[in-house]
Amino acid sequence: MIDLRSDTVTRPTPGMRAAMAAAEVGDDVYGEDPTVNALEERVAALFGHETALFTPTGSMANQIAVQLVVPPGEELLCDADAHLVTYEIGAAAAIGGISTRTWPAVAADLDVETVAAMVRPAGYHAVATRAIAVEQTHNRGGGAVLPLSTLEGLRRLADEHGVALHCDGARIWHAAVADQVPLSVYGGLFDTLSVCLSKGLGAPVGSLVVSSAERIERGRLLRKRMGGGMRQVGVLAAAGDYALTHHLSRLAEDHVRARRLAEALAPFGIVDAARVRTNVVPLDLSKSTVDGARLGAVARERGVLVSVLGPRFARLLTHLDVDDAGIDRAVEVLTGIFAGA
Ligand SMILES: *Cc1c(COP(=O)(O)O)cnc(C)c1O
Repeated sequence: MIDLRSDTVTRPTPGMRAAMAAAEVGDDVYGEDPTVNALEERVAALFGHETALFTPTGSMANQIAVQLVVPPGEELLCDADAHLVTYEIGAAAAIGGISTRTWPAVAADLDVETVAAMVRPAGYHAVATRAIAVEQTHNRGGGAVLPLSTLEGLRRLADEHGVALHCDGARIWHAAVADQVPLSVYGGLFDTLSVCLSKGLGAPVGSLVVSSAERIERGRLLRKRMGGGMRQVGVLAAAGDYALTHHLSRLAEDHVRARRLAEALAPFGIVDAARVRTNVVPLDLSKSTVDGARLGAVARERGVLVSVLGPRFARLLTHLDVDDAGIDRAVEVLTGIFAGA
């Protein structure tokens, strides 16, 4: 099976498993796991921040981050397709008491003026905006990369209004590779970031919240409150550390493979190949005779797994466990389906 459903489906490589087996560990709730501590320092330094906090999932990292910058009853702004308000099962409201308001999702760049018009000051009449969140790269937005100039505009806006800026950077690595922007430059623009080791980087588990020492100290408490205090978790941190050393620069290969898929499928009018810049290939089936259910079922029969997100919306992702031969096979199967074969 060639599994293009998600970049989360990767299995730890033999090298990664060896690093996990060899990891030095301690009780991380006591702050005594040297492998976790080293990973937190390494990731904080990559983004030019003071410190970081290891979490089991990206959702927990996001939720800790937004709770750090938005008090209960106050507001977070993000886009309507953000992971934060789509795939985290209402956690910002249910756990953080946070009110969210969204701007219409755009698959490419966002308009800073649209966001600016939404910011509400503190006062007695309206809920106060306390933070703005963006997603880099954008998952439902087809792996789109927000240009640095847009992020700089959002930073100025946040400073003007005294609100925080959070980055859901589950795939920020892909943005850094696609746009050649150093991670430290991205880091410098945000008050908090969440970054994920178990997507394109290929670790089995693990994300981090990146921020100031003061915030992360509070974040440690929030993590414990959510049941995220972990013990000899260096075995997992070792996988993340290995992934950063060995799997970061190879993301460019995933981008090339995604572009190849997109170029092969573009003649069927279902994807704009020029917009595919990272490892996500969104398929708009609204004008195709093949709907999502049929695509998913027939592709599966022929050995290719695709993610069907709606009757007319599907998605392919490239990752560590799909090589050039896998892409060749996927192109053959998928073009065959759209050509009516
Ligand atoms: C995957 C993902 C997350 C985190 O997901 P978990 O499954 O909780 O690790 C957060 N944000 C985005 C954009 C993602 O794609």
